[in-house]
Amino acid sequence: MMKVRYLDLSVRDQLHKEQLLAAVDKVLSHGIFILGPEVKEFEKKIADCCGRKYALGLSSGTDALYVALRALGIGPGDEVITTPLSWIATLNAISVAGATPVFADIGPDLNMDPGLIENLITSRTKAVVPVHYTGQMCDMFRICEIAERNHLVVIEDAAQSFSANINGRTAGSFGKISCFSMNPMKVFHSYGEAGAVVTDDEYLNNKMAALRYGGTVNREDCHYPSLNFRIDTLQAALLLVEYARLEGIIGRRREIAKRYYSALRDVVECPREHPGFWHVYYSYTIQTDRRNELRTYLTQRGIETKIQHPILMPYHAAYKGKYEPTIPVAEGIHERILSIPNHEKLPDHEIDYVISCIREFFGVNR
Ligand SMILES: *Cc1c(COP(=O)(O)O)cnc(C)c1O
Repeated sequence: MMKVRYLDLSVRDQLHKEQLLAAVDKVLSHGIFILGPEVKEFEKKIADCCGRKYALGLSSGTDALYVALRALGIGPGDEVITTPLSWIATLNAISVAGATPVFADIGPDLNMDPGLIENLITSRTKAVVPVHYTGQMCDMFRICEIAERNHLVVIEDAAQSFSANINGRTAGSFGKISCFSMNPMKVFHSYGEAGAVVTDDEYLNNKMAALRYGGTVNREDCHYPSLNFRIDTLQAALLLVEYARLEGIIGRRREIAKRYYSALRDVVECPREHPGFWHVYYSYTIQTDRRNELRTYLTQRGIETKIQHPILMPYHAAYKGKYEPTIPVAEGIHERILSIPNHEKLPDHEIDYVISCIREFFGVNR
C-alpha cells in the first residue's frame, strides 16, 4: 500500500543538504551562537519582505506573541479579541501576559469574522489578535479599520502565513506588531524552534529587544521583568537558506492546491481564495459532514491527515468553563475540517492517489 505522509521534514535533496551544512559550518567557524551576524541578516530580510522598519528574531512564535503583548503593555484588566480556532499558543500568550481573551467567531474561510468584532468591544478592550489561519489572510483592511475607529491595537498572528498577501500587501505588514513562527512545520521554517516580530515603531522595537533578553537594556540593567527569548544563530543561518527556497516551496504548494481544487470541489468543500488574496497553504483544509468517516477511510489507505486543531482554544482543559464564548460557527466547522497532505515534497503520484481515494470514498469515479 502506498504511504502518503502529511509532512516530510527530512532533507534528502543533496544540494539542499549541502547548503544547510555550509551554513552550519560558517556559524561553527565564527562561534557567535546567539544573536550572531546571521540573525541580523535574517532580521533584515524579513523586515524588508514585510515592508517594515524593524524585525527581531526570537526563540519561537509563541514567544513572539508574548513579547508583542508585553511590549504594548497589555496585561491584567485588559481584554484582547481573538479567534477560537488557532493553535493554543495564541491563547496562551494572551493568558500568560495576564490579559482576558474574548473570542470572535469565525467565517467559512476559518478566519475571524470581522463583522463580529465590534459587538465584543468593551471599555476594557485593548487589542485584536487576528490569526491568518491555514495560510490565508484575514480581511486585514476591515479589521484594521475597525480597530482604528475603536482605538484598538492590532497584533497579527502571522505564524502560518509568512509571505501570504492581499493584493501584494503581505502578512506581517498590518499589525502594530506582527508575529511569526518559523518552527519546522511552518512553510518558512527553521530546523528547531524560531520566531520573529516585526514593527515600524522604534520604541516598541527597543522594548521588545530588551524583553527578548531578561528585560535588559545594554545587556546589563533589567528594565522589565522578562525571560529569555533569544534566537540561535544556527537557526537564523538555516532560515537564510530556506528564505532563498521559499518562492519555490509556496509555488509547489499552490500548484498542489490547484489540483486538489479542480479534482475535489464537487465532493468536498475546498479552500477558496478571496479575490486578490494570495494563500500560502500552510495547510490544505477541506470541509465535509462525513469528516470522521473520511479520515478513517484515508488512514486505512495509508494517507496521513490532520485535524487542525482537535480542540478549539477556549475548550482546552486549562481554560474550560473560564470563558463563555459564543462561537456556533467555529463549533460547527470544527466537526467538518480535515487537512490533507500538501507539502512541497509530495510527488504527483501521491497527490493523484489522495484524490482518487477521496473520490472513491464519496462513490464518485474519476
Ligand atoms: C505555530 C503557531 C504558533 C506558535 O509558534 P511556535 O513557534 O510553535 O511557538 C502561534 N500561532 C499559530 C497560529 C501557529 O500556527
